[in-house]
Amino acid sequence: MNTVLGTDVTLRLSRKSHETIDWARSWKTTLFSLLEDVPNHYRHLVASISIDGTSATTLIVDSNTGQPLSKPLLYNESCPDALPLVKSIAPVNHTVCSASSTLCKLVSWWNSADSNKESATLLHQADWLLWFLHGKLGVSDYNNALKVGYDPEIDSYPPWLLAQPYSQLLPYVKAPGTSIGNLKEDIRSQFGFPNDCIACTGTTDSIAAFLAARATLPGQAVTSLGSTLAIKLLSSNRIDDARFGVYSHRLDNMWLVGGASNTGGAVLRQIFTDDQLENLSKQIDPMKTSPLDYYPLTSIGERFPEADPQMAPRLHPRPESDVEYLHGILESIARIEGKAYRLLKDLGASEVAEVLTAGGGSKNEKWTKIRERVLGLPVSRAIQTEAAYGAALLALKGAQS
Ligand code: ADP
Repeated sequence: MNTVLGTDVTLRLSRKSHETIDWARSWKTTLFSLLEDVPNHYRHLVASISIDGTSATTLIVDSNTGQPLSKPLLYNESCPDALPLVKSIAPVNHTVCSASSTLCKLVSWWNSADSNKESATLLHQADWLLWFLHGKLGVSDYNNALKVGYDPEIDSYPPWLLAQPYSQLLPYVKAPGTSIGNLKEDIRSQFGFPNDCIACTGTTDSIAAFLAARATLPGQAVTSLGSTLAIKLLSSNRIDDARFGVYSHRLDNMWLVGGASNTGGAVLRQIFTDDQLENLSKQIDPMKTSPLDYYPLTSIGERFPEADPQMAPRLHPRPESDVEYLHGILESIARIEGKAYRLLKDLGASEVAEVLTAGGGSKNEKWTKIRERVLGLPVSRAIQTEAAYGAALLALKGAQS
């Protein structure tokens, strides 16, 4: 029997913690303590390891030592100083044309650093942690590299990016779940992993969570019903539309098309406790159409499936019965989900055939039935939704090829 390991090092932070924590050190410490947690009797069976990390979390490291040259630039950090320059070199509405993109982070660092420019390498969070295991500095995957400008369709950095002086910092890119090489000798002996144990390229956190749900065919989709509503659809073709924040990641010979609405569970939590949600939901008849038509948002503004920064939340009229109110909200969110999938189809994506569900809302069986009726599609709860499970599947892919 062979075992694979997947690790998820995603982070979500408050402003306060952001300023006070030595992130790079804490990620490394966490990785090594996770490896330490692998039971001794399994270690000699570990064939392959992969790691996913937060998309657009960026490190600029010394190309010789791997040590960070400045503090990591976190996923939600914005570098508006670099945006005009990035917009002037990238195609209109390219994914990199956002102040939090990896490319804006790189350009911002390049313009402010006064030394070390010649011996610097850009890595994403997952790349850097994998480097501790395989020791080859400067390797990434095409999911993590999308926001620095890598073009997964031509499988190369585009000419407009390669023409920039900082292009020398860009990592070499492989498909996610590709072997980078055997583990370093010191890591193997420290943890007791076998001689032929490999480290494989990883992916981003949200793609790892998608992979965990095990959707593998065009038309299979995953709706994530967490604080917000995010959808991801496996498609034979690539769709990018900056108006709706829709863009595609490559997954082998398919495309993972995604979009995110501002509606979702956060609105439910403003009105009901989780216990109330559970009890009221039990009393809903999901086969009955709710006449209530809401647009549940926590604040003004929507971008997908309608791009309207001025859209106001609509949660009135509120009926006397809380059961009817909840029914109306759940059904309205389901209609938005339906509209989202229709929009992806209108933009040219593969037609949805089946929807798997992840996130806090996925445990609500009545909502699942409402969604099935409104979407006119089979809807079920994904068995696995942990990003680490998706990273382990990438490790397995690397071990099998
Ligand atoms: P996130 O990780 O985005 O914060 P989670 O996946 O943990 O979100 O899901 C939390 C959301 O799930 C909350 O916003 C809450 O409203 C919703 N939720 C929890 N229980 C239920 C339920 N029984 N029915 C519908 N939604 C629920």
